[in-house]
Amino acid sequence: MSDIQAVQWFPGHMAKTRRKITEDLKLVELIAELVDARIPQSSSNPVLRNIIKSKPKIVLLNKSDMADPVQTNRWISRYREEGTVAIALDSKTGKGMSAFFQAAREVLKEQIAAWERKGMRGRPIRIMVLGIPNVGKSSFINRMLAGSGAGKAEVRDKPGVTRENRWFTVGKGFELLDTPGVLWPKFEDPIVGEHLAFTGAVRDEILDMEGLACRLLELLSTLYPQAIPYRYKVDLMQESNLPGYEILERIGRKRGMLISGGEVDTERAAITVLDEYRSGKLGRMTLEQAISCDKS
Ligand code: GDP
Repeated sequence: MSDIQAVQWFPGHMAKTRRKITEDLKLVELIAELVDARIPQSSSNPVLRNIIKSKPKIVLLNKSDMADPVQTNRWISRYREEGTVAIALDSKTGKGMSAFFQAAREVLKEQIAAWERKGMRGRPIRIMVLGIPNVGKSSFINRMLAGSGAGKAEVRDKPGVTRENRWFTVGKGFELLDTPGVLWPKFEDPIVGEHLAFTGAVRDEILDMEGLACRLLELLSTLYPQAIPYRYKVDLMQESNLPGYEILERIGRKRGMLISGGEVDTERAAITVLDEYRSGKLGRMTLEQAISCDKS
């Protein structure tokens, strides 16, 4: 994963973003931190916790439509144990938005009561939206804007695109601040880099797609042993711990992805597997599973 570090990790840039977030914190009452529900750990920014300190925060487990619902609930319990409100969100359809609005008012109820006492009833709650590139910030903001007639934030498919700071006035008594700069994940940890690459949060041009698909297949075979045999009609059930390359070859063969001499085109098979995982065709799967004491 050193390639990922070399291309995307800019410590100077990160320091600037940290400064900007610290400055902007004074302007808001609430942080909405978006993480990817399939990889809540790897998609959260490690330094955020230190920067935002006591500022109220709600974690949005976005892309929950592609995550395992059982695991998402476990993550919500786990955050609750740590004293943080977390909500499952699907920014594509808006599922979870009303729960977010409700939770925001709940988290800030003392602040709202204090405003009312001072004659500031109806003062909008100002929110800073934070999250690593490609986690769904623009989609979330567009959801907030939907119906408010306040225009549209730009949604980009390309990971790692810098944007300007922007405020958005939205209905229902909220104002949003877009991310103050690019908040990079913790790329120095190879597992983090790999999990981000599995979900498509890292530019594919810099990745070894075959190796990546092999490691994804191994992980999925451990976490969701039925998923690969079900999708690709390959029989893996009798053999546990098959190397990823072996699984990839079987998938390629089954799909008729052959090159001259009858060999499997594993490069093509790798791209297929990664595409299908990322678009949810393999099912709703969470790659980082929560361990919680709370079974509710
Ligand atoms: P940003 O870089 O954080 O602003 O992320 P974007 O809002 O541009 O989203 C990145 C990609 O993720 C886009 O292709 C979105 O359509 C997709 N996306 C965002 N939120 C969701 C979600 O909740 N579910 C699914 N399936 N896709 C999402």
